[in-house]
Order: sequence, then C-alpha cells, then structure tokens
Amino acid sequence: MTILDGKKISNDIKDEITQVVAQMKAEGQKTPHLAAVIVGEDGASLTYVGSKVRACARVGFESTLVQLPEQITEEELLAKIDSLNKDPEIDGFIVQLPLPRHIDTQKVLLAVDPKKDVDGFHPENFGKLALDMETFIPATPFGIMELLRRYDIDTVGKHTVVIGRSHIVGRPISILMSRKGKPGDSTVTLTHSRTKDLANYTREADIVISALGVPNFLKADMVKQGAVIIDVGITRVTDESAPKGYVITGDVDFAGVSEKSSFITPVPGGVGPMTIAMLLQNTLLARQRA
Ligand code: NAD
Repeated sequence: MTILDGKKISNDIKDEITQVVAQMKAEGQKTPHLAAVIVGEDGASLTYVGSKVRACARVGFESTLVQLPEQITEEELLAKIDSLNKDPEIDGFIVQLPLPRHIDTQKVLLAVDPKKDVDGFHPENFGKLALDMETFIPATPFGIMELLRRYDIDTVGKHTVVIGRSHIVGRPISILMSRKGKPGDSTVTLTHSRTKDLANYTREADIVISALGVPNFLKADMVKQGAVIIDVGITRVTDESAPKGYVITGDVDFAGVSEKSSFITPVPGGVGPMTIAMLLQNTLLARQRA
C-alpha cells in the first residue's frame, strides 16, 4: 500500500511555480496576483482563505484579502466583484463559499469574469471542462488528477466510482475521469445520496473517489482488494482531547480501508494541500493567458 502524499506533491508543485514566478520577475513581467473575497466570520472559511493567501506568499505571488461584513448586501458584493473584474492588477480571484443565506450564490458566481475565475465555478468554464476545452479546472478535482498523474496511477479502462455529485468536486471529477487522456479514460459511476445499495458499486471499483463529507463512511467491507482510494472529505469532528477541540476526519475509515488498498490518500495531508497548490497553478495560468 502506498500513501498518496498530497503534502509532498503540493510542495513540489509550489516549488515549480516559485521557479516560474522568479523567472517572470527576472524578465520584468507582472507578478501573478490572486484576490480572495470572504464574507462573514465563518471559522473554517477564514482558515481556508488564510492558507490560500499564505500559499501566495510562499510562491512569490501578490495576494489581496477582501474581507466583507456578514451584513453586506448582494448589490454591494456584486459591485465589489465588478471592480475586481475590471482591476488590471488582479489576475484571478475567488469568492469563498458558503455565502450568507441572503446572498444568491449563483448570481455571484455568474458575475465573476470567466477569465479571472480561477476556481473554475463559472458555467462558461464548467462547460469548457465538459467539452475538453482550455479552462480553469476547479482546484480540488484538478488536484486529484494531478495526484493520480504524478503517482502514475493507471486509470485507463478502470472502473472509477465517485461518491457525491456536488458542483465543486463529485460532478467535475466524474467528467474529468471519463475524458480521454491520462489520467482519464475511466469508466465512471457517479453515486450520491439517492443511490441504492451504494456498496455494490464501490465493491466493484478499481478507483473510489469519496466526496460526501460523512466521517468514516467508506469501510473496508465496501472496497475490493487493491483498490485506489481518494478521500476528499474534510469534516471537523469534536474531540475534547485534541488541542483545537476537534479533529479533521475524512470520509474513509483509513485504518481498515488502507489494509486493502493499493494507493490511498490520508486526511489530512492528501487532497487538501493539493487543492491549494492547484489554485496557485490556476492563478499562474490566468496571468499567462492574460
Ligand atoms: P456537498 O455537501 O456539496 O455534496 C455532498 C454530496 O454527497 C452530495 O452530492 C450528496 O448527494 C452526497 N451524499 C451525501 N450523503 C450521502 C450518502 N449517505 N451516500 C451517498 N452520497 C451522499 O459536499 P462537497 O462540497 O462536495 O464536499 C464533500 C466533502 O469534501 C466535504 O467533507 C468537504 O469538506 C470536502 N471538501 C474537501 C476539499 C479539499 O480540498 N480536500 C474541497 C472541497 C470539499
């Protein structure tokens, strides 16, 4: 069994980006600049945005954190997005989700200029992904593909079972794994909360990509011997004995499933760090395409 070390691979990617940025600076080119918009004070969201901004400094990017109050109106937020769209300094930006309930998330995501949409959430970019066109691949599925590529995991003709159909993970990774190419060329089954007898599918899978957000959902008796296991889940589970009062738990019962798997991602240290590295990669692409 090999552990897919997302922390190491993400550091390799960051090192590669650092070199490209140093070269750009040496040639007098503009430095890539990522902006992150966050509305409100949600603890997990603040943590994610903080690590994205820190990652920018690590590779030599400029970054701007746009912190807005929970009470901001939809109109004000849309005006802010419009100004980021028009700001020539900003190459790409993200709007951290979830947004407060009084704001229409779809309206906000539609307002982002597709050329600066480094999260790849705009329908134009999602459509291009489905059509094999040049786009921004959402960072988490992009990170999974990169992990599979760098560990040279054979996906061609394999049966990949995805658990979860969200717009940011399950749906796009199911499309990417079925596209032509390497990684890709998989036969994909997309399962979700309405799937009957889900374990019947996962037991047949050569590759399981789990993105549902239910701690320890995938047990050893649900996977076949030698399967590749990608655990996207990140759930804070209360644990009084932990320094922070919680532990980060994946969707996979790691102790049991790792015994049967050929490759497996840990949580933390698997898909999570890859997500940040691929956001940086998308920001670099936005600068290079500008
Ligand atoms: P979501 O809540 O939007 O979607 C969850 C999906 O799981 C839904 O499609 C639902 O149908 C399915 N589902 C729920 N319960 C199920 C069940 N019992 N059986 C089968 N399917 C079920 O979640 P999301 O945004 O895709 O995130 C999923 C998990 O991945 C969360 O834990 C989230 O924190 C994590 N995540 C991690 C990263 C990362 O960087 N590692 C990035 C994004 C999301």
